[in-house]
Amino acid sequence: MPQVLVVMAHPDDEVLAVGARMHRMGGCRFVCVTDGAPENGADARAHGFRSLEQYRASRRSELEAALELAGLPVSSAAELLLEDGTRVPDQGAAGRLVEVARAVGRHLRDLHPQVVLTHPYEGGHPDHDATSFAVWAAVHGIATEKRPVVVESVAYHAGTGGTTVWMKTGEFLPGAAGEVRICELSRAEQVRKRAMLGCFRSQAETLEQFGVEREMFRVAPAYDFALAPHAGVLLYEAYGWGGVTGEAFRERVRAAREELGL
Ligand SMILES: [Zn+2]
Repeated sequence: MPQVLVVMAHPDDEVLAVGARMHRMGGCRFVCVTDGAPENGADARAHGFRSLEQYRASRRSELEAALELAGLPVSSAAELLLEDGTRVPDQGAAGRLVEVARAVGRHLRDLHPQVVLTHPYEGGHPDHDATSFAVWAAVHGIATEKRPVVVESVAYHAGTGGTTVWMKTGEFLPGAAGEVRICELSRAEQVRKRAMLGCFRSQAETLEQFGVEREMFRVAPAYDFALAPHAGVLLYEAYGWGGVTGEAFRERVRAAREELGL
């Protein structure tokens, strides 16, 4: 296994992405961009937590339990701290693109990974797109010859067909260049991954929508984040996640690129 910096938006995204091989990723670092707890407290209440702090702590301990199942030290999960020492709330990454990119850059300079694993830019969740952009910006902020390879794992995006928008999992958004590497999981790997996903008790309902038959990766395409990932309504627009439209996200990307000099 090469030295990998895994940069994902939410606790559980890393297990969805690469859970079947995490037990072989000793020495790799799993950075979670957000704390997994939307600031408005709606998710915390819906999951029966009395406070945002409790929900936040629970999401952290769920991730630590999954890492322990994989035989990894809990210290391999790193929280993404902004320059002022604060964390990004769930659904808040798109509003802090520059700060998140700089924080990812600090992890890159600290770890010098050969590979960064992150989300594709697909309009699925604004935190995923923000994370994808932040990794792109952080990698482009270092000298060409020192840049790690950016690899993406399959996530989710808007399903098409019919009159409603739905969450399509298990495939990359069609149309982007790049060969997809499909890793079919053995029965034992599927059992292990299921058990790891089971650690995220608060997310059980959402995680039901994801299969464990395979993991899929590709080298990140050369995105232009100032363009929409696809035509039509984005999944997060349809679901109202993060209170951001695709156009507003792209406007923030343009401003962040200017501020970062990219
Ligand atoms: Zn996520």
